[in-house]
Amino acid sequence: MAIDRIERIALWLIDSPIRSARSHGSGHVKRSVRRVILAIHTADGLVGWGEAAPWAPFGNTAETALAALRHVLVPALTGQDATRIVACMATCAGAIAGHADAKAALEMALWDIAGKRLGAPVSALFGGLVRAAIPLSFSIADPDFTSDLDRARDMHAQGHRIFKVKTGFLDPAEDMRRLDALRAALPGMDLRVDYNQGLAPHEALPVLREVERVAPTFIEQPVPRGQEASLARLAAALDTPVLADESVTSPEEMLRAVREGFADAVSIKLMKSGGLLAARAIDAIAAAAGVPSYGGTLWEGGIALAAAAHLLGTLPNCTLGCEFYMPSYALVRDIVPDVLLAGGGMVQVPGGPGLGVSVDMELLAGQALESL
Ligand code: MG
Repeated sequence: MAIDRIERIALWLIDSPIRSARSHGSGHVKRSVRRVILAIHTADGLVGWGEAAPWAPFGNTAETALAALRHVLVPALTGQDATRIVACMATCAGAIAGHADAKAALEMALWDIAGKRLGAPVSALFGGLVRAAIPLSFSIADPDFTSDLDRARDMHAQGHRIFKVKTGFLDPAEDMRRLDALRAALPGMDLRVDYNQGLAPHEALPVLREVERVAPTFIEQPVPRGQEASLARLAAALDTPVLADESVTSPEEMLRAVREGFADAVSIKLMKSGGLLAARAIDAIAAAAGVPSYGGTLWEGGIALAAAAHLLGTLPNCTLGCEFYMPSYALVRDIVPDVLLAGGGMVQVPGGPGLGVSVDMELLAGQALESL
């Protein structure tokens, strides 16, 4: 049995330039994306890749992910049997609370190894695909709206139909101007809005009633995590489905969302659930309650998004598409060749064994701030 042992886990802290500035609320404008990349090496010579893309509002940064991996999670997993993924994740859960992004990176690397060992894509290990391609949503988040509108026009001409506007960090009248401009510019589009927790509970309802005028497919996380009573009232009052993102990060929180009625739809993200197994459990609870799911992201590149695509491709309940646009449309150059872009506004689930991605070691070294 010893040949399946985790022998070594290599870590890189990387900083990747992005093509245009992006603001996802809280006034912070991003110009590059900082992530942790890891490689698990087994004693029998297999290598599995993982990626942690933390988001500060969830309490983590790339540096905290690196520290948790380096000082706690890597020592805990080294020497463990890589084929026992559930047991490995239980070891991680017992070693340190939180750090979902770091745990997700480790779990996807273990699935990558399992697939490579069996010569099967990770999607096959999760029961096989119900869809080989997932409709792609692009997020309108450039502080320079004119340049985002031009980008959206180009993408629309190439077949993209789903656009999600980051709202709630400008005043509501300005948000309505942007939404009206998009509606007018892109006929037949599927428009969504994401407040990233940007509205106060007492002001949300009139603002969202006005937003319903542009007929969004869903309204994502209008009020902050912690304000689930307000989220439930909004879900009851509005005709448009309210999608819970920051308010649902675990199967336990999904169960609560069903009981308390604060999610008409839910965003699934490996970085908040801490891996594929927990993400699938969230989706299973949502499916049982008739709540459709959506593939969300924080700032992941191709490794983590390939892992998410493998999982989402196997979930019949994931009917709202995904926002896996970072490698193709936001990063200047990802460290893995782009295997996700199917064209025509679709993301394809990668083929090949494991996650189906290969890392460009030169680009990895070039973007690395630190390697351990
Ligand atoms: Mg969101």
